[in-house]
Amino acid sequence: MTEQLYFDDPLTLEFTAEVGEIVPLNDSKFGAVLPRTYFYPTSGGQDHDTGTIGAARVLDVYKQGGDILHVLDKSLSPGSYPAKIDAQRRRLAMQHHTAQHILSASFLEALEIESISAKINGGSPSTVDIQTDQLSSDDITRVEDFANGILFENRAVKSYYVNDEQALKIPFRKAPKVSGRIRVVEVDNFDYTPCGGTHCPNTGMVGLLKIVKTERINKKLRVHFVAGGQALGYFQDYQRVLQESSSLLESGITGIAEAIAGKLERLKQAEIQLEALHSDRLAAEAAQLIDSAQTLVDRILITALFRNRPAVELRQLANRLRKEKKLVAVLAVYDGLKLSLITICGRDTDLDARDLLQKQLGPLKLKGGGDGSLAQGGGAVNEELVGDLFKNTREYLDVA
Ligand SMILES: [Zn+2]
Repeated sequence: MTEQLYFDDPLTLEFTAEVGEIVPLNDSKFGAVLPRTYFYPTSGGQDHDTGTIGAARVLDVYKQGGDILHVLDKSLSPGSYPAKIDAQRRRLAMQHHTAQHILSASFLEALEIESISAKINGGSPSTVDIQTDQLSSDDITRVEDFANGILFENRAVKSYYVNDEQALKIPFRKAPKVSGRIRVVEVDNFDYTPCGGTHCPNTGMVGLLKIVKTERINKKLRVHFVAGGQALGYFQDYQRVLQESSSLLESGITGIAEAIAGKLERLKQAEIQLEALHSDRLAAEAAQLIDSAQTLVDRILITALFRNRPAVELRQLANRLRKEKKLVAVLAVYDGLKLSLITICGRDTDLDARDLLQKQLGPLKLKGGGDGSLAQGGGAVNEELVGDLFKNTREYLDVA
């Protein structure tokens, strides 16, 4: 049975560990059960501590019946060793755990919303699941203001034990799940929770609490929050991003949204102008192709091969051309690897665009489809096969 020293003294992070028998575990790891420890094992929604015992790294800590097992990266001989808990990881866990009690109680006090469960991380935002499916930004501000008010009052956070009878007189936010000897964590005169985690001795040590995201999961809401050192890290990251953005936009930080809105509006206008220019250019190109079309007995023929042009643009050009009377056209784009081809046969030409497409693509073993007036297809083709691409069309139309 390991004595859990972190309950009464969560601030001691260095101690002498009495190592007895070491048990080999999987993956070349070793387990040590100590008679007394300050290492916190994963439990009650809070992650385990890490650190060192002598020359061994403590990789994991968990409960095994009444014992606490310390998972080590190397074996140790029985004896006394200096042990050290990773201070930053523990402090973040304590800040987040204390913040979680206060946040859950604040949801109840400020918004009358009950919390269901929590996951304390410290390394990434911790979460509280609450009994609602939505929160407005006003709700979030209200609960943050309320919770941070409790932090700024620097209330004492106490822990003590009660028996079942004494427990009946404690105004627990959530009823204890255990009976007999119940550990109460009290945020002075504000929140009473049955809990076996490590907490800050005063709310001021939590520093700051901020909700960073909410996420709907079935009919509940998962609230992601940061506190203490992690809240500072978030603020520093956000500040950096905002400063870089305001520098790029040549605006002050508070003017970023307005600057982006202005740029988006100008971008929209530029896109409209670009679209108009593009449309004019295609109209001019279509007119030029019609002017230089080959005149046959009762039709006109256009053939054009383009290099490295978007296939979508070829289609736009085809749509402009197909209005022309008596038109037969073959338009192609080749990018060095892939050929895209469109055939047009006006309904007044007695020809079928699908037949013409087949004449063009069949010998290249490529396929396509469409209707009688416009068809398209293509695929990978060697450069030399593109050389006299329209020979088949001329043969099909019996043109020299
Ligand atoms: Zn707790």
